[in-house]
Amino acid sequence: MKVTIFGTGYVGLVTGACLAEMGNHVVCVDIDEDKVSRLNRGEIPIFEPGLEPIVRRNHANGQLQFTTEAASAIAHAQIIFIAVGTPPDEDGSADLQYVLAVARDIGRHLDRYTVIVNKSTVPVGTADRVLKAAADELAARGANIAFDVVSNPEFLKEGDAVEDCLRPDRIVIGSSSERAVEWLRKLYAPFNRNHDRTVVMDVRSAELTKYAANAMLATKISFMNEIANIAERVGADVELVRQGIGADPRIGYHFIYPGAGYGGSCFPKDVQALERTARSVGYQARLLDAVEAVNYDQKSKLFEFIQRHFGGNISGRTVALWGLAFKPNTDDMREASSRRLIEALWEAGAKVRAYDPEAREETQRIYGQRDDLVLCDNAYQALEGADALAIVTEWKAFRSPDFARIRDLLKEPVIFDGRNLYEPRAVEDAGLAYYGIGRGRSV
Ligand code: NAD
Repeated sequence: MKVTIFGTGYVGLVTGACLAEMGNHVVCVDIDEDKVSRLNRGEIPIFEPGLEPIVRRNHANGQLQFTTEAASAIAHAQIIFIAVGTPPDEDGSADLQYVLAVARDIGRHLDRYTVIVNKSTVPVGTADRVLKAAADELAARGANIAFDVVSNPEFLKEGDAVEDCLRPDRIVIGSSSERAVEWLRKLYAPFNRNHDRTVVMDVRSAELTKYAANAMLATKISFMNEIANIAERVGADVELVRQGIGADPRIGYHFIYPGAGYGGSCFPKDVQALERTARSVGYQARLLDAVEAVNYDQKSKLFEFIQRHFGGNISGRTVALWGLAFKPNTDDMREASSRRLIEALWEAGAKVRAYDPEAREETQRIYGQRDDLVLCDNAYQALEGADALAIVTEWKAFRSPDFARIRDLLKEPVIFDGRNLYEPRAVEDAGLAYYGIGRGRSV
């Protein structure tokens, strides 16, 4: 099929590449000229495992094109995806300016029946606003062209995005138009060969499904962090508690890891946006408020441990950070816990030496060149001249380190483990002090 995708970020680029891989003709549009020229030169602007060969192959054979030209891209498509950003507004609700700008562009250039599919995460009711924005533009030029607006929220995970896109758990299609649903079923058929993963529903339910999914996952994390905070005060080990509760299949082992808080471009903003949606219809989402509040405090945890360990004064100290990205297998730093820690350390007069396998360039872009931030080439180099080590992102490469080497390189042998990667006893046996999240000994 002929597909156009607005937005070549994590969602748009991965979706475009995977649809092209299945034989569709895909045009990806972005307003970021630099991004489009890099893509046209064969450079992939984000780190996402497995993405590069698919983009390269399909770009080379003409199945996948990149442009800044909205008009020709709209003329190309039977199906147009909107996959632009929906960052938080000043009050935390989703900022729809990019989505609605695309809707207006579509209305200005549409020349035949087209299915407009919203993949961006947007509040309930946005499909109606997209429809109106496009319809107003059509009316302004006296055109009478039918189109449908479908909600098709995206559930891919950064770091596993290609795999998730090729083998989705479910494909949610929110629409009351039989024709639109049929076209999308056809487009997604190659991803559905094993069994039908399509869940068709009304538009509003589809829009809410995405927020409910992210809010549920964020709730699991904040719940475990709450248990961790109780565990460390009562002398229990949350890692044992985690395994004890995960064994119940009604609870399960997935997504119940305590840690230094969740970040990323989705959970923080989506929990907030859902809370604002609830408020706008006269309902106070107390559980969501608590999920957010627990997470906010959790992001200060490592800093508090570090301050306490050094007697409340870390001015002039240097802290080594392992991990900067908000989670492993990505270079995304949006709302990353590392940023809160780094900024708190600077505020307290400390310096940072950091290593991340993928997020170095992004960290440099965010913070620029500074004397109090040294970005290192490998994990052990970050320890040179540092007083302490903080683990912020659970990259696989950090799971089995050489504790003796860490001890010898650090001025003060102490690890603040924000992802509970290590067994406290193993670290202590190697002659290092250990702080974990909810390990019953940190308070
Ligand atoms: P992103 O910030 O990586 O990319 C968005 C892209 O849209 C940018 O390249 C930007 O230049 C482009 N853009 C903005 N306005 C445009 C316009 N008028 N025309 C064309 N391009 C335009 O965003 P992302 O992480 O891919 O997220 C996109 C949406 O998908 C968001 O609503 C997000 O909440 C949702 N989502 C993200 C993920 C994820 O893991 N990143 C997962 C599921 C859903």
